[in-house]
Amino acid sequence: MDYDVVVVGTGNAAQAAAVASREAGAERVLMLEKASLDQRGGNTHYSGGLFRFAFNQTEELLRLVPDVEDHFPGFLANVSPYPAEAFRHDLQRVTEGRTDPELSEILIGKSYDTVCWMHDQGIAMEAAASLTAIQVEGEWKWPAGAVIRAANEGVGLSRMWFAAAEALGIEVRYESAARGLLQDAQGSVTGVMVQGPEGTSEISAGAVVLGCGGFEANPEWRARYLGRPWDTAKVRGTRYNTGDGLHMALEIGALPHGQWSGSHGTPIDAGAPEFGDRLLTDKTNRLSYPFGVVVNAQGDRFLDEGEDFQLYTYAKTGGALLSQPGGVAYQIFDGKVLDLLEPRYETGTPVVAESLEELLRQLPLDSDRAMAALAEFNAHSGQGRFDPTILDGLATAGLDVDKTNWAQALDTPPFRAYPVTGGITFTFGGVRVTSQAEVVGLDWQPIDGLFACGEMVGGLFHANYPGGSGLMAGAVFGRIAGGSAARRSTG
Ligand SMILES: Cc1cc2nc3c(=O)[nH]c(=O)nc-3n(C[C@H](O)[C@H](O)[C@H](O)COP(=O)(O)OP(=O)(O)OC[C@H]3O[C@@H](n4cnc5c(N)ncnc54)[C@H](O)[C@@H]3O)c2cc1C
Repeated sequence: MDYDVVVVGTGNAAQAAAVASREAGAERVLMLEKASLDQRGGNTHYSGGLFRFAFNQTEELLRLVPDVEDHFPGFLANVSPYPAEAFRHDLQRVTEGRTDPELSEILIGKSYDTVCWMHDQGIAMEAAASLTAIQVEGEWKWPAGAVIRAANEGVGLSRMWFAAAEALGIEVRYESAARGLLQDAQGSVTGVMVQGPEGTSEISAGAVVLGCGGFEANPEWRARYLGRPWDTAKVRGTRYNTGDGLHMALEIGALPHGQWSGSHGTPIDAGAPEFGDRLLTDKTNRLSYPFGVVVNAQGDRFLDEGEDFQLYTYAKTGGALLSQPGGVAYQIFDGKVLDLLEPRYETGTPVVAESLEELLRQLPLDSDRAMAALAEFNAHSGQGRFDPTILDGLATAGLDVDKTNWAQALDTPPFRAYPVTGGITFTFGGVRVTSQAEVVGLDWQPIDGLFACGEMVGGLFHANYPGGSGLMAGAVFGRIAGGSAARRSTG
């Protein structure tokens, strides 16, 4: 046998699996990376590095960010606990109650313990200020549950995982794509077929962990499973997640699970590149729409910008944008809220004007119709106090599409417009796994020797997603998969 455990992929989930398998006694562990060294690390590299996890007392965060008060005085007082019930409630409501009951309980129940384990492996953490918090009158206001990220975001997370793996003697082969799974006569998985720089070869292993992402970067699969308009979407992250692991697993009879027609897609700069940019990473995101108004090229509003905090709506808003004529729309803000725009807006080039009429005339849309829509919005805007830190209930009433929070009139210059489109992040459909991350077969029995983690695990997310859950799920199930694989191989 060449290796105790072969892990396919080098993203967050695969790294957690590889490290956990070493910890659980596997000595010879190999990670296969389809990309070259300078493109390694999957979507994890491009991510914001944000982790959503449950904790009962804010002081528990000090384990991860011991000096946080030095950087953000008042942090502990301003962050609310996020107990398991709150995580469960968020996951249930945004997935319309369709999250897999068993898998979601594992995600929630093991979230804090896993993030601490990662920290113990050398993954430094920091407060996710620029990503999720807003500053009001000089004071940071933090959302529930999503306050901690890896130091230096996804770039740092990926780099720290590679360092941790290297320190444990885990081997990595680049430009080495897994192409198929090897099986013995009984159907147990015994290794992988690999296409590498020297050609095709077989690698035998006591167990194989698939952590090689969804099919978000494969336009043919997007057309097949997600349908229009997803085949034309820009990809926010890696170009290498083309469904290879799902293909290999389905080919040997893995059981599909979850919403195969669903994906995570967010509002991004309309000028963003076709695939993620290694330096810009997640900075093309445009998530401050709850504080503005969004119109399409026909000049119509089409969504409730203030339905909820952005971390609970952004993952489904990309799809709403892509469905508009030309797949574009315009986020419009007035002078009252410019201070609230996420720092990521600084990477964009807004259209700016001193009046709404002048602003709309500069945009490639039906400006008369858009002006009518904005005038109608202003005439129906909410009465009361605007408060960006809570669901303030400042709602329009009587519009075809009402805005249910933060609906103050656009009346204060300067006005700004940001052109946006929908970018795909990752896909929701995957394979079914057991509580031990074993891949389940079409006969509903685990496929011996095969484990999966990360985006490849189906069933957790449906229609929408609470921000920060993807990396957390990847780490939780990656850690479990690595332990299970090591035990299968060496036990
Ligand atoms: C711009 C952006 C921002 C994000 N921000 C956040 C965030 O802040 N918080 C959060 O929770 N989630 C975030 N996400 C989602 C999160 O990044 C992903 O859910 C997570 O990284 C998935 O981890 P993974 O290990 O499953 O896949 P990936 O990190 O994508 O890793 C997949 C790996 O498999 C490799 N691979 C693919 N096919 C093969 C093959 N045939 N053989 C060998 N290797 C192969 C790829 O090259 C890659 O190394 C973000 C995603 C993007 C794109």
